[in-house]
Amino acid sequence: MNKVSIIGAGQVGAAAALFIAQKQIASLLLVDVVPGLARGKALDLSQAAPVAGYGVRIAGTERLSEIEGSRIVVVTAGAARRPGMSRLDLLEKNASIVKGIAEDIAKYAPSAVVIMVTNPLDLITYLAWRISGFPPHRVLGQAGILDGARFSYFVAQELGCSPEDVSAMVLGGHGDTMVPLPRYTCVSGVPITELLPPEKIAQLVERTRRGGAEIVGLLRTGSASFAPGAAVAQMVEAILEDKKRILPCSAYFQGEYGVEDVYMGVPVRLGARGVEEILELKLAPEELKALRASAELYKQGIERLNRVLNPDSEKL
Ligand code: NAD
Repeated sequence: MNKVSIIGAGQVGAAAALFIAQKQIASLLLVDVVPGLARGKALDLSQAAPVAGYGVRIAGTERLSEIEGSRIVVVTAGAARRPGMSRLDLLEKNASIVKGIAEDIAKYAPSAVVIMVTNPLDLITYLAWRISGFPPHRVLGQAGILDGARFSYFVAQELGCSPEDVSAMVLGGHGDTMVPLPRYTCVSGVPITELLPPEKIAQLVERTRRGGAEIVGLLRTGSASFAPGAAVAQMVEAILEDKKRILPCSAYFQGEYGVEDVYMGVPVRLGARGVEEILELKLAPEELKALRASAELYKQGIERLNRVLNPDSEKL
């Protein structure tokens, strides 16, 4: 059976483990620096198995070297937001955590596909890609599925229909520079631009942009975990089962949409190799402008990563 390792056994790591276990497609290894935490969560998840009806092996460890043989490594290690914080406020702290983890992934699981979750997502995914030395198709980030799911949920609530029937498309950064695409967001094939007035769509878009902060404000002690965990499980399934699903993920741009050398959210074909293709949608001029503005902000963020991690040496 394929092995999936999840580094960081906190809220998102544990939720991702549960959703993946329910799919019965991989054995799981949870890894956390806090002594006992990953082993405790793994034991708890294993004891849920007889009731929940999954039969996969779930183990926990403090030793990152045990990820050896993993087909996929998911990284959720690092600090989460508190009320009033932006995702970018986590950059310095999480960059130093992920730097060491990416080095270890390259050492112990050199052929794995890496799914990043740690925030600020797109910049941290860029960092993990550079540090690992992996080809870009094997390092990607989870954000767009979550952002799309939030948008779908809000649309479904507004229309009084099932969220299952709404499929949303969100591009750009995971944060304020997110670019939701109402024209490509459909209810059973019908674009929402035909179902809702522009002012209402604008409100739902704004609520989606602030979707993470809304939950942080309510929880006060952490950030969302169930929806991000479900999104990770969908990506893991697409890769392990070579499903060629078209899903929005944070991927490395090499000239697509006129953008280069950043990670951002974009629809990709997700299969056994990881990101098998970036899809180029036909964007309206203002959508393209918003996407490029998102990319510009990330270029500045990469400069900030350089200063944190390589103050004296060459650029990342
Ligand atoms: P959490 O605090 O519950 O869990 C983080 C875990 O990482 C902790 O258990 C901690 O001990 C562990 N950790 C820290 N350094 C480590 C290391 N070097 N090796 C192994 N484990 C290590 O936080 P959370 O709520 O699970 O969030 C985790 C990250 O995911 C945060 O950065 C958060 O902002 C991000 N997040 C991203 C999305 C997304 O859509 N991309 C959604 C939600 C949360």
